[in-house]
Amino acid sequence: MKHALIIVFGCLLLAGCTDPTTTSSDHPATASDDAQSYPYALVIHGGAGTITRDAMSAAQESAYRDILTSVLQLGDSLLANGAPSIDVVTQVITIMEDSPLFNAGVGAVMTSEGTHELDASIMTSSDRNAGAVSGVTTIKNPILAARAVLEHSDHVMLSGSGAESFAAEYGIEQVDNDHFTTERRRKSLQRAQEREAATGSIYDTKALDYKYGTVGAVALDRSGEIVAATSTGGMTNKRYGRIGDSPIIGAGTYADQVCGVSCTGWGEYFIRLAIAHEVSAAMRHGNMTLAQAADHVITTDLSSTPGTGGLIALDAQGRIAMPYNTEGMYRGYARPDEIVVQIYKDEE
Ligand code: ASP
Repeated sequence: MKHALIIVFGCLLLAGCTDPTTTSSDHPATASDDAQSYPYALVIHGGAGTITRDAMSAAQESAYRDILTSVLQLGDSLLANGAPSIDVVTQVITIMEDSPLFNAGVGAVMTSEGTHELDASIMTSSDRNAGAVSGVTTIKNPILAARAVLEHSDHVMLSGSGAESFAAEYGIEQVDNDHFTTERRRKSLQRAQEREAATGSIYDTKALDYKYGTVGAVALDRSGEIVAATSTGGMTNKRYGRIGDSPIIGAGTYADQVCGVSCTGWGEYFIRLAIAHEVSAAMRHGNMTLAQAADHVITTDLSSTPGTGGLIALDAQGRIAMPYNTEGMYRGYARPDEIVVQIYKDEE
C-alpha cells in the first residue's frame, strides 16, 4: 500500500467514552458529518444485533475485527489505485460471503426446514441500474449473480430456479445447499423453533443474543460512482419462500447521485419503510445531510416500529454514516489514510 494506514480501534482509546446516562438503545452513530470531501471511500457492515462486550470472547472479537480490517484494506488499496466501485463492493462481499462469520453465503441462517435460501442485490448510482437475486439455494456467491442480473439482463430481480439457470448461463459457480451449513446456524434454528413452540413467534428477535449477520458494502470511486450492495441468508426459521429487504431495491439497498445505502435488520420493517431509499429522499427533499438523514430513518422511523437493525451509507463527497438501534453492529470504513473498524456501541 502506498500510504500508511491508521487502524483505529476506538474501544481501546476511548474506554471511558460511554455516556452512563444514555438508556436508549437507539444509536445515532455517524462516522463523520464534516464538511470535507474525499476522493474515494468504502463503508461495510456485517450485521447488527445484540452484540456486546460481555457476550463476545476475545477470539470471536478478533476474528471479526480481522476480516473487517482485511476487506477494508483490500478495498482501500483497490480504490486508491482507481478501481471502479462495482468491482470493489463485489470483491468485498464475495469474501464476506465465503466467511462463516456472517449470515451470507457460507454461514447463512436456516429456513424452518433446515435449508438455506439466499438473497442479494447491487445498485449503481450514475444510471440507477440494479440487479438482485432472491430465494436462491445453490449459487455459491449470490452477489455475483446479482451483478450478472445488473450487467446482462433486462430485469432487476430474478428468483429461485430461474435465477439459478441464469447464473449457470454466466458460468457462476453452483454448490450443494449444505455448502452453506454451519453448526452455529443449526443451533440458532433449534433455539428459534423452541421459542416458536413456547411463544408462537416465528422469529427469535427478542432472544438475548439475537444477531443479524447480513453483509453490505457501499463504495465511492475516484470517478464519483457510488455502488451499494447487500447479501444475506435472511432470517432464521423463515418459511414459505419468505424474501426480506436485502434483495429489494429501495428497502435493503439503494444508490443514486446523492448517496448509497446498505441495510441489515428485521427485513419486514425495512421493506415497509423503504429504509434505504428513504435516506436519499430525506437528503434530496428534506435538505438533510447524510448523517441527519441516516440517523432519522433509523432512530426515528425504524425505532417507531418493533423493527431493529441498522445501515451503512456514504454520500457523493465520501462522508459516512453508520446508525443502528441495536446494541452493536459490525461495521467499518476506509478512506485515504484511514481505516476504522467498530463493533460495539461505545466505539466512536
Ligand atoms: N435484513 C435481513 C433480512 O431480513 C436479515 C439481516 O439483516 O441479517 O432478510
